[in-house]
Amino acid sequence: MESHGMGFDLIVVGAGPAGIALACEARAAGVPAGRILVLEKAPEHSWIIRKYCPASKPVLANYKGIEARCEGVLCIPDWTREETLTYLDRAIADSGAVVRYRDEVFRIAREADGRLRVESSGGVWRAPVVVIAIGILGRPNKPSYPIPRAIKSRVFFDVTSEQIRGRDVLVVGGGDTAMEYCQFLVQEGNRVTLSYRGEAINRPNPINRDSVLALERQGKLRILLASNISALEAAGEKLRARFAEPAFDPLEVDRVIYALGGTTPENFLKSIGIEFDGPNPRLTKAFATSVPGLFLAGDLTAGSRGGSIILAFNTAAAAMRRICEDHHICPGRPEA
Ligand SMILES: Cc1cc2nc3c(=O)[nH]c(=O)nc-3n(C[C@H](O)[C@H](O)[C@H](O)COP(=O)(O)OP(=O)(O)OC[C@H]3O[C@@H](n4cnc5c(N)ncnc54)[C@H](O)[C@@H]3O)c2cc1C
Repeated sequence: MESHGMGFDLIVVGAGPAGIALACEARAAGVPAGRILVLEKAPEHSWIIRKYCPASKPVLANYKGIEARCEGVLCIPDWTREETLTYLDRAIADSGAVVRYRDEVFRIAREADGRLRVESSGGVWRAPVVVIAIGILGRPNKPSYPIPRAIKSRVFFDVTSEQIRGRDVLVVGGGDTAMEYCQFLVQEGNRVTLSYRGEAINRPNPINRDSVLALERQGKLRILLASNISALEAAGEKLRARFAEPAFDPLEVDRVIYALGGTTPENFLKSIGIEFDGPNPRLTKAFATSVPGLFLAGDLTAGSRGGSIILAFNTAAAAMRRICEDHHICPGRPEA
């Protein structure tokens, strides 16, 4: 593996909203652009937004009821997906940070000289401070029952992998993402059924909830509440979902889309030595982990409720303030 001799002051893992904000906060704090390295495994930044948010979806500043109050240098109002991506394009370019795409980090360890050593598909990098901002959707939650190999190509965890039009589609989930997928798929001319295990749609924000309930009233969306799929199987050209509840007949559709959220990449974080409290990494108020010099930012810090773009920006700002206080990488700051 190629070892890159040049060290950095700060390495940011992941170029989503949190990672981009980190690069911008570091620049605003005076860290030289060439001393900031951002490693992103996808070919472009903000990969999760590109993959999971359909092009027509508005990006809400006040997402999941998380207050849209910006505490750092980046901020967004309600925008379209394209406006949001353009803003993030400009932010990452203006930061001047060294950004490497298609470069996936798979290990972080401590060097004998105290710096952190980051191993990626592109080589080995070193810095006194590393911030992990890889989000939680790299591995979306899967259902508990198996998905037979023969139907895998018709089962999705996003709505951008295939253009789905004029089909019978089953969406599974009860959060904002599931509601947004339903609205998008109805708009694309599909016949959509939503299966949710809860008794009522009360998790999503009011706009999403009211929109799907309006679609149901208009006969454009069928909602199966308190329904639990027990098996998914091939049925000729169709897919058949069976339900645990006898009240629901088996349902045949062309596509199934799961929107079950994601989980913290626990094994990766634990392998670095980060301590956990239950399912969540143990963090200070400034998102420092139990490993000195190692911080988390963005969705990784948000717990089961999930995060938002502004929350990602704010976690980056808080982490960077702490980094400047504790590590002498911000010019003009007294040494810790
Ligand atoms: C369908 C949907 C709709 C949403 N709508 C809104 C909305 O309207 N408003 C809003 O505020 N929020 C919305 N969100 C939430 C918002 O997208 C997230 O809160 C935000 O993107 C979190 O940013 P992040 O930087 O923490 O993580 P992510 O956006 O997940 O970015 C993580 C980045 O890290 C990269 N990465 C992962 N693993 C590695 C690795 N090992 N090495 C290198 N790079 C890696 C990924 O490719 C990715 O680019 C929505 C989410 C979804 C799924």
